[in-house]
Amino acid sequence: DVLSHGANDLILPTLSRHGGDEFLILLPYIAEPEDAGLVAARIIQLLSRPIQVATHELYTSLSIGISVFPEDGMDDQLLIQNADTALYCAKAAGKNQFAFFEQQMSNSAFRRIDVENNLRHALDNDEFKLFYQPQINLTTGKLIGMETLIRWIHPSWGIVSPVEFIPVAESTGMIVAIGEWVIREACRQWKEWESQGFEPAKISINLSAIQFKDEGLNALIENIIQETGMPVDSLVFEITESALMLDAESTLTQLHMLKKIGVRLSVDDFGTGYSSLKYLKSFPLDFLKIDRTFVQDLETSQSDQEIVGTIIHMARNLKLSLIAEGVETPGQLKILQQGGCDAMQGFLLSRPVEAHKYEQNFLCAEKENNQDLLYCKEIINGS
Ligand code: C2E
Ligand code: CA
Ligand code: CA
Repeated sequence: DVLSHGANDLILPTLSRHGGDEFLILLPYIAEPEDAGLVAARIIQLLSRPIQVATHELYTSLSIGISVFPEDGMDDQLLIQNADTALYCAKAAGKNQFAFFEQQMSNSAFRRIDVENNLRHALDNDEFKLFYQPQINLTTGKLIGMETLIRWIHPSWGIVSPVEFIPVAESTGMIVAIGEWVIREACRQWKEWESQGFEPAKISINLSAIQFKDEGLNALIENIIQETGMPVDSLVFEITESALMLDAESTLTQLHMLKKIGVRLSVDDFGTGYSSLKYLKSFPLDFLKIDRTFVQDLETSQSDQEIVGTIIHMARNLKLSLIAEGVETPGQLKILQQGGCDAMQGFLLSRPVEAHKYEQNFLCAEKENNQDLLYCKEIINGS
């Protein structure tokens, strides 16, 4: 479409390099906007074929964003900007896709740019806070620990969810510095509680796939442990199942290095990735967390009950301690208890709360009752 027709027409050039790996294609002679989609589909089809180089087959992938004159812009600058926004959305939807520009894309793209720009100052401005969510043993009702969950308290937006800003932090690399802050702050808080005479049990910290792959991670953790005096056996790192399975061979090496430090390891969001059982068996892990999506419909979905039952069996065979996350109702809890799940975390027990609230609601109460949280006992006994 571009190269053959363009050469015969008088309007040239129709294909140009915009910079880096981005190219611009101008289609001046389409009858309907949809025709641009046909051309895009054809280009994707052609360029996603393997390219034979000597004995190797090389694969490329591409994404295409489309803007149409005059609806999406009256001048070249706006047309290119909107095509770029559509390109970004096409990329986010996966490889080898095209997308037409739509106005609401622009809003979400602007929000993302806003988030990215503001995130750059968030660490320096001390805008992050850790929240803590308790986890209890389902047989004894005792606290086995807590998970730390980051919150961004933006001066004018208020609380921004990690679901929104962690992906931005990951794609820009900022996650490494933010993640370092999280580990240091979590250890500092734990030690503070310990020095006040509490027994905070284990603290779980989420590691992003990018942190997990970062070469400096082990040294960083060792430094923070030294610096804060955090006991290694109370420190748990949660890594999502999908991050673990990205490159199973190097995961194995990395997990062994972390185990050598002495920390505990947990598989997060279990059931949502595609685990190879062969690898899962060889990984030196301690905990498995059933993803919230399986717990959610536990009371009504027969298939979710079966899946959870299977995961409980599997965890037992792999000798991993099993934690169910996102438990919201007594009915869900009952099914998990009957199945033999070890521990739980969820709104039924508590939402993630700030440090001083966690201290008040859980650590103080536990100390006063000599290790027994009556409230937790009531929950596991269903009263
Ligand atoms: P996650 O690790 O799976 O964390 C559990 C999420 O489920 C948390 O969302 C928590 O607030 C929420 N949750 C807990 N119990 C319940 C429940 O009973 N019902 C429902 N509906 N939700 C429940 P949150 O805090 O918004 O965090 C979302 C995700 O952001 C986390 O998912 C984790 O992947 C990521 N994240 C949070 N903090 C950090 C961090 O410090 N570092 C990194 N890399 N990721 C983090
Ligand atoms: Ca987690
Ligand atoms: Ca999770």
